[in-house]
Amino acid sequence: SVTFRNVTKSYGGKEVLHSFNLDIKAGEMVSLLGPSGCGKSTALRCLSGFESITRGEILIGDKSVAPVPPQKRGIGMVFQQYSLFPNMNVLDNVAFGLKVRKVGRDERIAAARSILDMVGLKDFAEAYPARLSGGQQQRVALARAIVVNPKVLLLDEPLSALDAKIRVQLRDEIRALQLRLGITAIFVTHDQEEALVVSDRIAVMHDGNIEQIGTPKELYLHPETPFVADFVGQTN
Ligand code: ATP
Ligand code: MG
Repeated sequence: SVTFRNVTKSYGGKEVLHSFNLDIKAGEMVSLLGPSGCGKSTALRCLSGFESITRGEILIGDKSVAPVPPQKRGIGMVFQQYSLFPNMNVLDNVAFGLKVRKVGRDERIAAARSILDMVGLKDFAEAYPARLSGGQQQRVALARAIVVNPKVLLLDEPLSALDAKIRVQLRDEIRALQLRLGITAIFVTHDQEEALVVSDRIAVMHDGNIEQIGTPKELYLHPETPFVADFVGQTN
């Protein structure tokens, strides 16, 4: 599980998260849905440890992450930009995190191959990233994030750079994989349809806070504010 408790984050004098609260259950996939600049990526960066928080507390399970350095928080991340290592083939890209963790060569290759199989890229192990389509590169990024068995998977607009058709296909694959692994996940998007399809619950963010959180159905049928209605409701 993941808990944000009264998390405030300021950049310089500008507060971008205002006493932000969010509870994500183990195995749950929650979408952060909101317009550009509302603080979605900031919330993820505070959880991953790439940003420090100004006030409040973040917990993974029942432990505060404050004393834990980013690389020890057990977090896997996938970003909008594929950001694979261009000079490594697909297999080495995926196995990289295991190498860093000193996993032996045979074991890490076996693990990487098995994850590549899961994301449908078994036959691309020896290929270099430049040869792959955007969708394939994002599958590699996903494989690289999950191969180390993270406690939490963070997906920051992982589909935004892809064509519409691939976007639909990959979002369904991501959801299927998340359910299969039973991994706790946060999916950031500004696309309401994407959020409705992939999440157990959606948190609609507005200006550094959560305006409403609920199941896709709850939000769609019973938006509590005009802002939420605009974003996910059936009013227009
Ligand atoms: P998008 O959908 O465009 O990715 P977002 O919801 O992820 O937006 P954030 O990137 O979290 O938004 O940014 C929230 C606010 O914090 C914005 O006003 C942004 O300009 C500001 N901000 C983000 N990073 C920094 C930084 N390093 N220094 C100063 N301000 C920042
Ligand atoms: Mg962002």
